[in-house]
Amino acid sequence: MTHWRKLGEHFGFPTCCIDNFVAMSNAGLMTGREMVARDPQGPWIGTGFVPCHAHLEALRGKTAADVAALISNRKHSLPFPHTDDLEVDNVMRGMAFATS
Ligand SMILES: [Zn+2]
Repeated sequence: MTHWRKLGEHFGFPTCCIDNFVAMSNAGLMTGREMVARDPQGPWIGTGFVPCHAHLEALRGKTAADVAALISNRKHSLPFPHTDDLEVDNVMRGMAFATS
């Protein structure tokens, strides 16, 4: 399931959050949708970002700008919080942006 890691890196999300998402997903503990549902008011909803527990606590009540401040080395063509669905599909399929 390395595509989740690739996508997280493509989006420039913090490594801890990517690790958390990949671990929980691989363990079958929570789906991405369930992780998002932990805080439906989060400014990251719809951005592809799923914060780890520490970041979930740190970002409670914060804005999209606060989330954007955590992002680095983003390869996605659109700035956070925007996403291009076709580009995301391509990354998930390993068709583009697969190597770095
Ligand atoms: Zn994190």
